[in-house]
Amino acid sequence: MTENFPSVEGPLCPIPLSHDDHIVIGHGSGGTKTHSLIQNVFQKYLGNTILNLGNDAALLKFGQEIPKGTHLVVSTDAHIVFPLFFSGGDIGRLSVCGTVNDVSMLGAQPKYLTATFILEEGFPISDLESILSSMAKAASEAGVKIIAADTKVTEKGKSDGIFISTTGIGFAPDGVSIHGAAAKPGDAVLLSGPVGNHGIAVAEARGNLGFRSQIQSDIAPLNGMIASLLEAVPTVHVLRDPTRGGLATTLVEIACQSSVTIELNEEDIPIDRDVKSACDLLGLDPLYMANEGKLIALVPAEQTERALATLRAHPYGPQAVLIGKVIEKSDGQLLLKTPLGTTRRLDMLAGEMLPRIC
Ligand code: MG
Repeated sequence: MTENFPSVEGPLCPIPLSHDDHIVIGHGSGGTKTHSLIQNVFQKYLGNTILNLGNDAALLKFGQEIPKGTHLVVSTDAHIVFPLFFSGGDIGRLSVCGTVNDVSMLGAQPKYLTATFILEEGFPISDLESILSSMAKAASEAGVKIIAADTKVTEKGKSDGIFISTTGIGFAPDGVSIHGAAAKPGDAVLLSGPVGNHGIAVAEARGNLGFRSQIQSDIAPLNGMIASLLEAVPTVHVLRDPTRGGLATTLVEIACQSSVTIELNEEDIPIDRDVKSACDLLGLDPLYMANEGKLIALVPAEQTERALATLRAHPYGPQAVLIGKVIEKSDGQLLLKTPLGTTRRLDMLAGEMLPRIC
């Protein structure tokens, strides 16, 4: 073992490009076809000096790849969205941003990802290249490297095009303690922008809306915005991205983890007009629709304005807003104050509103 990684810019033993247009079972064999796919397709988009070494695992050294004075934060996520491409994103961007965001929600900066690709025999290699290109773009924006990857191929009909599972590794400075059980009575509940866009964009791509809309998925890596927020407001108590289950389910989770009652003002929750119309049409509740580029932040009340100003200054948070507060210790409740002055209790999403949303 050398002290440092050798620098590897390209494949160690080049294998010519095979002329398959589609994934065949042989791409999962581990032999020549697999290596050709790795070198000529995967490394073309995702390659870096660690991945290109071609070892069975990636080596991260304390004091080098792992900064001193930090602790590791790890998250994993599987992506099975249907369809694979939709307005505002695709499964590639989703597979990077979903995991980047989950690592970020504990106050860590994500740095490394691993990825597993499950490909179906017959999947077009041109679609795979589009997806990998999208992953590369999202990874570059988020400042993360894909340092280990695996590909498996199923027979036609045994999976659905492509599934991608990613694991993220990030580092948080020792002393940072941001988690779901840290909400306190008096905390302000902030939301970085309108909810429901991702869910409706995917529904539209499935042809479920019956009309064309301008709605785009909000998929975005949020680690840059979180870094700015933590610099301005180091006393953030809770961060979470309201993905599957939406805003309401995520806030019920936080209320239960922290044993508090959270009260929201319905009028203050931003929902784009087109999203509201689409939800009315489909009988869906935007408070339970998936988001992939929004965050909830619970901060001490006196930090509200500073936190909002920081979120609004970031390209992914111009519509950040105060939507409610933590009112008291309890057994974990989420309350919604309506414009009529009534209050109702919100529960977690029951059942599945839209399957295969992320
Ligand atoms: Mg999450």
